[in-house]
Amino acid sequence: MDLDFTMEEEQFRAEVRAFLKAKLPARIADKVRTGKRLTKKDHEEWHAILHERGWLASHWPPEYGGPGWTTAQAHIFDEEVSLAYAPRVVPFGVSMLGPVLIKFGSSAQKKHWLPRILDGSDWWCQGYSEPGAGSDLASLKMSAVRQGSHYLVNGQKTWTTLAQYADMIFCLVRTSTEGKKQAGISFLLIDMKSPGVEVRPIITLEGEHEVNEVFFTNVRVPVENLVGEENMGWTYAKYLLTYERTSEARVGAATAALSFLKQIAQTEQKGGRPLAEDPLFAARIARVEIDLENMKTTNLRVLAGSGSSAAPLELSAMLKIRGTEIRQELASLARIALGPYAQPFVSEALDEDYQGAPIGPDYAAGIAAHYFNERKLSIFAGSNEVQREIITKVSLEL
Ligand SMILES: Cc1cc2nc3c(=O)[nH]c(=O)nc-3n(C[C@H](O)[C@H](O)[C@H](O)COP(=O)(O)OP(=O)(O)OC[C@H]3O[C@@H](n4cnc5c(N)ncnc54)[C@H](O)[C@@H]3O)c2cc1C
Repeated sequence: MDLDFTMEEEQFRAEVRAFLKAKLPARIADKVRTGKRLTKKDHEEWHAILHERGWLASHWPPEYGGPGWTTAQAHIFDEEVSLAYAPRVVPFGVSMLGPVLIKFGSSAQKKHWLPRILDGSDWWCQGYSEPGAGSDLASLKMSAVRQGSHYLVNGQKTWTTLAQYADMIFCLVRTSTEGKKQAGISFLLIDMKSPGVEVRPIITLEGEHEVNEVFFTNVRVPVENLVGEENMGWTYAKYLLTYERTSEARVGAATAALSFLKQIAQTEQKGGRPLAEDPLFAARIARVEIDLENMKTTNLRVLAGSGSSAAPLELSAMLKIRGTEIRQELASLARIALGPYAQPFVSEALDEDYQGAPIGPDYAAGIAAHYFNERKLSIFAGSNEVQREIITKVSLEL
């Protein structure tokens, strides 16, 4: 098997690099490199740049605005944007809702919502989890009762990432309590500006406002915002999750994090020598590099085999587990490598206009926050324990 990229693929890599050199704002790349806070405006700016080039929705079919890339091209693009310290495209519209609308949405929904995802008119968030319905998602209770031309929605979502910025939320709602709990769920698009929607922040371990609780009290949602058929939402929800979990493989991000870790290990000293020469630390870097190389090959093999940018359920679970474990190990190693510099956590130092004296090298300020933030990886998009259960059930046909 030839694992090298072809000459055309290497030419494509050069084209991506040239684009990044010309178009990725240095101010934003520097923020990503040093772990500084990205604003909503930063995300929107990068989103618009990619959209202008036609490279935003790398996995959408060309007829809806995707670039029509092969698996290898998408992989190369992912690797290069990460190595250049570009921000991750906020996934809720482009990577989650987009594929669901393309497969299950009506023509009117595709025509209306897909261009708005691409041009950034709507910032989407994901309303799946509820208190008591995370791993056991099908137990969700938020209700939508049809009343003529609208649904009346009541209930609560939680852990809703970046809902404070969102214009729209896609929600799993209960439209029936008859029969199996999975059979009474529908997929509804809700305007965050509707009367009765309230967003309350949840502050995470590292002191950031990334997630929220969202409350819905007698919210009226037009029936045309129902995706697909009533009570069929579980099918669409699972389809979306295969995209979400596959995208958590994030081999590009891990490749960039490994390269960054190696730079730190060359710079930081232990016993008068670069940390990279310490046999125990070098062995840990080697271990994670081997895992990442295996992951890269597996990711490419699985995606090429599935002919889509989402792997089947059990394989997307596998990619999610390994991808998140590798990134958590890389975040741990970066924290260990920086030793005392990683310990003082000065939240204001993550702001763009911070004028205080840095503690250690410029990239040290964000290391502790990054480490704490990355603890979420093994929980969100379905916890890694639950992903193992999915793999077991599918493989053993339980
Ligand atoms: C930072 C962050 C961002 C998130 N963003 C979003 C978002 O934008 N939208 C959204 O809808 N959700 C979001 N989530 C929610 C996420 O999907 C849930 O947290 C996740 O599914 C776990 O559910 P839970 O928190 O209710 O934990 P629980 O389901 O209560 O699980 C608690 C623990 O029990 C374990 N456990 C549960 N069931 C089993 C089992 N059957 N076998 C073995 N172990 C089990 C779990 O692994 C976990 O360790 C986010 C979560 C986090 C942490």
